[in-house]
Parts: sequence; structure tokens; C-alpha cells
Amino acid sequence: MPKPVVAIVGRPNVGKSTIFNRIVGERISIVEDIPGVTRDRIYSSGEWLNIDFNIIDTGGIEIGDEPLLVQMREQADLAIAEADVIIFMVNGREGITSADEEVAKILFRSKKPVVLAVNKIDNFEMQQDIYEFYSLGFGDPYPISGSHGLGLGDMLDEVVKSFNEPEEQEEDDDTIRFSLIGRPNVGKSSLTNSILGVENRVIVSDIPGTTRDAVDTPFTSDGKDYVVIDTAGMRKRGKVYESTEKYSVLRALRAIERSDVVLVVINGEEGIIEQDKKIAGYAHEAGRAVIIIVNKWDAIEKDEKTMKEFEKNLRSHFQFLDYAPILYVSAKTTQRVKTIVPMIDTVAENHAMRVPTNLLNDVIMDAVAMNPTPTSNTKRLKINYMSQVAVKPPTFVVFVNDPELLHFSYKRYLENSIRKAFGFVGTPIRIIARKKS
Ligand code: GDP
Ligand code: GDP
Repeated sequence: MPKPVVAIVGRPNVGKSTIFNRIVGERISIVEDIPGVTRDRIYSSGEWLNIDFNIIDTGGIEIGDEPLLVQMREQADLAIAEADVIIFMVNGREGITSADEEVAKILFRSKKPVVLAVNKIDNFEMQQDIYEFYSLGFGDPYPISGSHGLGLGDMLDEVVKSFNEPEEQEEDDDTIRFSLIGRPNVGKSSLTNSILGVENRVIVSDIPGTTRDAVDTPFTSDGKDYVVIDTAGMRKRGKVYESTEKYSVLRALRAIERSDVVLVVINGEEGIIEQDKKIAGYAHEAGRAVIIIVNKWDAIEKDEKTMKEFEKNLRSHFQFLDYAPILYVSAKTTQRVKTIVPMIDTVAENHAMRVPTNLLNDVIMDAVAMNPTPTSNTKRLKINYMSQVAVKPPTFVVFVNDPELLHFSYKRYLENSIRKAFGFVGTPIRIIARKKS
């Protein structure tokens, strides 16, 4: 089920990014050593009352040097297009400005649920400053303070209340949803067409009621159902924000979110560029199955070493994706395009694989016997038991004497042992340490 999306809209300096960061909290990232992946976020996930949602800070998307009012309109449009609920943030110390009124008008017309948050209400005495904001027409204003973390609970209660009842659709069937992500011009559209063009793939008509304006193309192949999520189809023409890099990242993120399998497409002609890593990093963090597709393989001068060298280079750039298979294809000549869907099947299967607990524990105990657990400050890590608690991605809880003792390198060793025993090609694996009670 796609998570609901919340967008924060408001003038510069009202405190949007402060609140965004508070809601998102400190998330520990496995790919934190990749520049640009975790910094500078405009899109992340949050949770309130056990409900997960995604959140966008529209202020983080530069909209060129347009005048403030134009930028505010663009931001509001973006929020309306992307979000289920909008947090409209104003500054309680400055009162209502004409830009606030402009945003209010646009949001009001959209009929999307809007939660009005009056920020910088840092103490109780200031509460009276919120009353003038009733005139914006969004009901009760919620006083909050980003600096002091006040009022956020009440505001989030209201946000969560405004989520629609989840639509019962998609999911739970055997349909495999996948998307092609990558920089502009790497060949995503060409590949999509090439995949769909293969004989015997029957394109089913567009699914009605798919969220917002993503263009999903369902098709069947060998009796199995697939949906390819077209990120390019999410473009909204004529909008300024559409051309900004951050918006295209946002679009890719939305597609990743809705996919089981993500095809990270790279232009073989150009090699790997920083932005490729950033995009791939998101797919990894989101826990999706991943295949790396090197496209335009026809355009490269090759000898017998080329593929090996390319792979070596790729692996060194994408260490965090060491589980992802690599396919070298050409959308133009259709070379090896036929291998893509079977590979999607394989990684999707692994993404959803469950291993029996007894076999899992045999593997872990063997691994520990081969390579004893580490000690720190004379205390030794003791592993009692491991259990797979989830799929998509496969997630394991390991019960130990002290979770602090399970360091990255030993966790990595356990992960590799699990992979060696069970495969799991193409899917990330998560291992969570818990104290044995
Ligand atoms: P954005 O441009 O809307 O994303 O605003 P920022 O989050 O960057 O915040 C703008 C400024 O307002 C920063 O200097 C923040 O420290 C400050 N600020 C944010 N929230 C509060 C608040 O609740 N109270 C006060 N007094 N200042 C705040
Ligand atoms: P997108 O922006 O990632 O969707 O990329 P497109 O599918 O629009 O392709 C960008 C350009 O690369 C177009 O001019 C394509 O004709 C070209 N292209 C795509 N795939 C290949 C390929 O496999 N080989 C070669 N030589 N060119 C390709």
C-alpha cells in the first residue's frame, strides 16, 4: 500500500525545514558515506501513532529566481499534486502576509485537507497570536514551535486524521511492480518501450484510479502480471519546478516507493556519475529489490575485457548495492533486453523470500563457529537466536546479549553468511539486533 504523503508549504523562513527535520527525526542510514544521499533531504518518511507516511519539504525545492509570489504558487501546486494532506505553515510572529493569502487561496481551491500550523509560538503567552489566522479559512490553527518542539503532537494528530481510508486496491496480488530510474537521457523511456515491445507482452489498459498522475502500464508476460511505473509520465508540463533537479529526484523517489523492483539505469557510454549513486542510494534505503542496467551497450567500443572492467568500476562505486545483478543491454538494438523481465522475476522472488527458522539458525551457528563473535571492553557478543520477521525486504531480528556489541563488520559478516546459504540475489537484507529478554 503506498504510504500517504504530507507536504509542508509556507513562505521562506517560517520554519518548514526545522519542522521537517523534527518529524523525520534522526534516521541512521547505511549509505551515509555516499555524498548527497542523506544530506539535504526534501523527502523522507515519518511516523505518528504507528502510521507511516512520507513527507515533502516543498521549500527545499528551488524554483529558480522567480518572484516570491510565483514561487509560492509553484510550491502550493506541487504540494497539491503530490500530497494527500498539506501542512500550511505560517509565522506566528509576523502575522498574515499577502504571500500567505495567495497560498491560502490556491490550497483552498484544491479541496485537499489542509492543516494550518502557526510556528514560532515558543511559549504560552504567545498563544493569543494565533487567532488572527482563523481568517485564512482552514479552521483551527495549530500553534507549534519548531525550536522547542511544542504542539507537534496535536498538529500530527490532525494530519493523520486527514489521511483517507486506505483504498483497497493493488497489492496482495501477484503483480510485480517495477520502475526504471536514472538520470535524464540514460534511456529509460527507450528501455520501457523495448521491454513492452517484446513479443507476447500484452499491455492491459491503464488502471483507473492509480494514485495521482503516474502513468502505470500493466502488462502480462508468460502468464504473469507486471506493472511498469513510468516516471517520465509523472511530468507536469509547463511547470517551473519540473525542470529542477530536486523535483526529478522527488519523482524518482515516488516511483521507487511504489515499486517492488527498481531498475537503476546507467548510461554505459558515460560511465557512472555522482547523481547515479544518489538515485541508487534511495532505492537501497527504501529496501526495494534492485537491478543495475547498463544501457547503450551498443555504443561502446568493446573488447573481451570491457565488461569486466566496467563491472569492477561499477562495483567500486556501488558498494552498497553489491547484491544487485548487473545487465548490459541496448534499448536500441534490443540486445539482452529479453533478459530483463526474467531477472525481475528472480529478484522479486528473493525480495519476498522467507527462510525457515531452523535452517537460518543452523547457518548462523555455523557462521559463529567459523568466525567467533567480537568482544569490546572484555564483553563478548553472544548470539542467541535469529528469526526472519518480514519480507520485502527480508528482515531478520537477531537476539543478542547486548545490541551495542553487534558492530557493522560483524553484521555484514552475518549478512554475507545468510546470502551464501540462501541466495537473496538482488534484494537488500536488514538485520536488527535486539536484546534477549
Ligand atoms: P524554512 O525556510 O521555512 O525552511 O525555515 P527554517 O526551518 O530554515 O527556519 C527559519 C528560521 O526560523 C531559522 O533560523 C530557525 O531557527 C527559526 N525557527 C524555526 N522554528 C522556530 C520556532 O519555533 N521558533 C523560533 N523562535 N524560531 C524558529
Ligand atoms: P530517458 O530520458 O532516460 O527516458 O532517455 P530516452 O529513452 O529518452 O533516451 C535518450 C536518448 O538516448 C535518445 O536519443 C535515445 O535514442 C538514446 N538511446 C536510448 N537507448 C539507447 C541505446 O541502447 N543505445 C543508443 N546508442 N542510444 C540509446
